[in-house]
Amino acid sequence: MSVLVIADHDRGVLDATSLQAVTAARALDPQVDVLVVGADGAGAAGELAAYGASTVHVATGEGLGDYAPQAAARAAVELVGTLSPSAVIAVGTPRGNEVLAHVAAILDVPFAAECAQISLGSGSHDIVRNRWGGNVLETSKVHSDLLVASYTAHTVKAEPAAGAGAVVEFSPALSPADTVVRVVDRAGEAASGVGLAEARVIVSGGRGVGGPEGFVPLDELAELLGGAVGCSRVVTSNGWRPHSEQVGQTGTKVAPDLYIAAGISGATQHIAGMRTSKTIVAINTDKDAPIMGYAHYAIVGDVSTILPALVAATRAAKE
Ligand SMILES: Cc1cc2nc3c(=O)[nH]c(=O)nc-3n(C[C@H](O)[C@H](O)[C@H](O)COP(=O)(O)OP(=O)(O)OC[C@H]3O[C@@H](n4cnc5c(N)ncnc54)[C@H](O)[C@@H]3O)c2cc1C
Repeated sequence: MSVLVIADHDRGVLDATSLQAVTAARALDPQVDVLVVGADGAGAAGELAAYGASTVHVATGEGLGDYAPQAAARAAVELVGTLSPSAVIAVGTPRGNEVLAHVAAILDVPFAAECAQISLGSGSHDIVRNRWGGNVLETSKVHSDLLVASYTAHTVKAEPAAGAGAVVEFSPALSPADTVVRVVDRAGEAASGVGLAEARVIVSGGRGVGGPEGFVPLDELAELLGGAVGCSRVVTSNGWRPHSEQVGQTGTKVAPDLYIAAGISGATQHIAGMRTSKTIVAINTDKDAPIMGYAHYAIVGDVSTILPALVAATRAAKE
């Protein structure tokens, strides 16, 4: 038996949460098979091995270039047929959950999304799931020989442990329907900078920054600290910043060393994406805003004066 992990990468750049999935899989079974979809993902094999991947299976072929959820699921299902794993897991990134949902649908088995704990059994498995953005922990049993499940991002800390990391290429059989949904083009991508998911420092803005121009000091501070800019959903809904910067239940889940929340109230759906940050600094005019209850350091004040002061102080400290 083994546990099959579906790794997430973007044109060859491994999503750091995949290493969390491999670490989690090691605790379930010493044999960890990892599926990487697309030839450009083969370069991630070394990194995956350094976290305990026994074998990295690289699915290649027409339709398996850029992200195509059902095609990726077909590749996973083919491996389920050959490897007979006890579980197929990924981290519950939007892509991880989407591919696993396809896997479960194709195999007609249940899918347990957003697990905090998994304990494999025979014919049934015990899980603890995050519900309502992590505010409720649900303990349940999944009745299925094969467990298909995702871990909530940052539930498990990625820990290195060398594996064999053998690389095996295969070409799964796909039908035209498997690639109907796929990425064909990208527009308006950020040209460079630290990615939100892997940033050690995130400077995040909400409605309280007042508009797109209010992000200028956040951009400056993030650059000075070598971090990334994040935001709340109000900000993306207003078109002030792109969705790729949204933190939360329906955005990216992050766990940086430092999370600065400027003008963000701390709605449940936002907290769900950043509550595991090591240090949270909140800047808010309202001392009773919910975010203050999660903050290690709370600054009660107006972002339009606090942020420039932080930028100046950081710049001075670096000189
Ligand atoms: C299904 C669903 C999914 C969702 N997913 C997400 C998600 O992934 N991420 C997310 O963020 N939200 C999400 N939301 C939205 C969420 O419920 C909140 O509406 C949103 O997070 C609020 O954004 P905000 O904190 O920027 O704005 P507000 O709640 O309006 O808060 C603004 C804050 O700024 C403070 N403020 C105002 N002026 C200043 C100033 N000058 N200086 C300092 N502070 C100031 C205010 O006191 C207030 O606390 C979701 C909602 C639903 C229903």
